[in-house]
Amino acid sequence: HVKRIRGEIEFKNVWFAYDDENWVLKDVSFKIEPGETVAFVGATGSGKSTIISLMARFYDIQKGKILIDGVDIREYNLKDLRRQIAVVMQDVFLFSGDIKSNIRLRNSSITDEDIVRAARLVCADGFIESLPNKYDEEVKERGCTFSAGQRQLISFARAVAFNPAVFVLDEATANIDTETEMAIQQAMANISGGRTTIIIAHRLSTIRNADKIIVIDKGRIKEIGTHDEL
Ligand code: ATP
Ligand code: MG
Repeated sequence: HVKRIRGEIEFKNVWFAYDDENWVLKDVSFKIEPGETVAFVGATGSGKSTIISLMARFYDIQKGKILIDGVDIREYNLKDLRRQIAVVMQDVFLFSGDIKSNIRLRNSSITDEDIVRAARLVCADGFIESLPNKYDEEVKERGCTFSAGQRQLISFARAVAFNPAVFVLDEATANIDTETEMAIQQAMANISGGRTTIIIAHRLSTIRNADKIIVIDKGRIKEIGTHDEL
């Protein structure tokens, strides 16, 4: 049994580069308290997706420290860490198999009821239940027969089924129809209670609901504040 984290995330003077030429993050420092809802904003290419990928340790940083509940991220078992910090990426691709197995992955402790519950919570049930085979619908072409927003909703359901302490959403930049956008907004409200919620926001409506907004500019923190302050 793995101890549940509280969901405090701190970056201390983090420097990161994908190669050995260009720093993508430069001296980035911020602290997110457990249970807070935080929005990251900034121009395309400023480093937002990079920051969140570091939270689940998809890469190791070159300089500085990333602390989860005050403990260096490198000290966590990677599998345990990723069960507790669920990330829904900007461009989601699904696996071959049906919708159910895309939500459950290989976690046999997640029942069919859990899957339906998770889908309801993230408002993915409407579109899934309109499919001919509902939760048994086969996923083709890595999910490309669904819209970008629908793929994100399935990925959301997967994230929520694992009941993570930290939930991270990189909002899709692709065009999302109004109905799916509303489902995503409602989903965020449904799941943010009691857990740290981090959103890379491209929509003003998402930003308004955040406790704190962090503005990124060319790999650096430009400002941190509330919607009213900024
Ligand atoms: P957007 O709003 O367009 O999603 P972003 O703020 O999320 O942008 P990042 O994706 O974090 O920006 O990219 C920051 C910089 O790092 C960019 O210059 C990008 O080209 C580069 N970059 C991102 N991912 C990789 C990668 N896997 N390998 C090499 N460089 C990368
Ligand atoms: Mg991005």
